[in-house]
Amino acid sequence: RVKERGRGNFSFYQPQMSAGLLSRMKLEHAMRQALDKGHMAIYYQPQVHIETDRIVAAEALMRWTDPEFGVVSPAVFIPLAEESGYIVTLGAWVLEQSVQEAARWYFQGTPLKVSVNVSALEFRQPDFVERLLQVLQRNALPAQWLELELTESILLTDAQEMALRVRQIAELGVGLVIDDFGTGYSSMAYLKKLPISKIKVDQSFVRGLPEDEEDRAIVAAVISIGQALGVEVVAEGVETGEQCAAIYNMRGSYFQGYLCAPALPPEQLLQRLKAQHEQGVGAVAYSQ
Ligand code: C2E
Ligand code: MG
Ligand code: MG
Ligand code: MG
Repeated sequence: RVKERGRGNFSFYQPQMSAGLLSRMKLEHAMRQALDKGHMAIYYQPQVHIETDRIVAAEALMRWTDPEFGVVSPAVFIPLAEESGYIVTLGAWVLEQSVQEAARWYFQGTPLKVSVNVSALEFRQPDFVERLLQVLQRNALPAQWLELELTESILLTDAQEMALRVRQIAELGVGLVIDDFGTGYSSMAYLKKLPISKIKVDQSFVRGLPEDEEDRAIVAAVISIGQALGVEVVAEGVETGEQCAAIYNMRGSYFQGYLCAPALPPEQLLQRLKAQHEQGVGAVAYSQ
């Protein structure tokens, strides 16, 4: 037995190290190598203006395919990266790649706003705003073609400091989006106080449309708050025509979801953009 090895022959065996922890460590190890090995990619999911059926923005979503673990969901590796601090490295990569992609769209005449998720730990880095500015300048992308998706929890701790940061970013011309709206400690106060350009109604409220009365009430309320405060509202996770119609009937203007497309490789999104462009009207940026 491992424990009965002779003196000086110590082992790393720890009974309390569960299988779960071991595989977690393996996964984290693989994650830390995935960028360099080219196993990470960014896909882009369209956001659609319902009335015109036009793509008006795309959300950058990370994709990881590991040779050993297969496809690992962001729902698994993002929390792991957040807990280990590695999200700061991953996030910087996503931001750079996404801005590069948006600059490509912009300079080839099919401009489209790119929307990038930012975790709390990244947003809290003291040099976050400075790096953001550098990324935009390096790629010569006008700030209006980038927006950042934050969750409500980011604004909870160090509220004053974070509010200042939000204002600095808005000052640059970068859009600020509240993601998963309604699932956090929703406070209407920050919608009034901060320069938020868009809120995304969480898909958990969209799923029950059109039948579920409570979901309907919540989505309708968020849409009207957005309208009253001059904030764009995007419904997330729209999968069916019925859900989309329900949102439209509640005077919602935008959706993101499988009904249009899942997150697509950049080439596929570009094809759609070009097709849309050839049909006439170009992509319209939000809030312009
Ligand atoms: P999120 O930012 O709320 O992104 C939306 C999620 O909903 C994505 O999951 C997307 O694929 C999924 N989705 C979109 N349309 C539909 C639909 O019609 N039905 C259903 N069932 N799902 C839909 P995904 O890509 O697995 O990402 C999960 C979460 O991981 C994201 O939620 C985001 O919080 C996080 N994440 C992904 N990429 C990044 C990243 O680059 N940085 C950071 N910090 N977080 C990321
Ligand atoms: Mg998001
Ligand atoms: Mg979301
Ligand atoms: Mg989410």
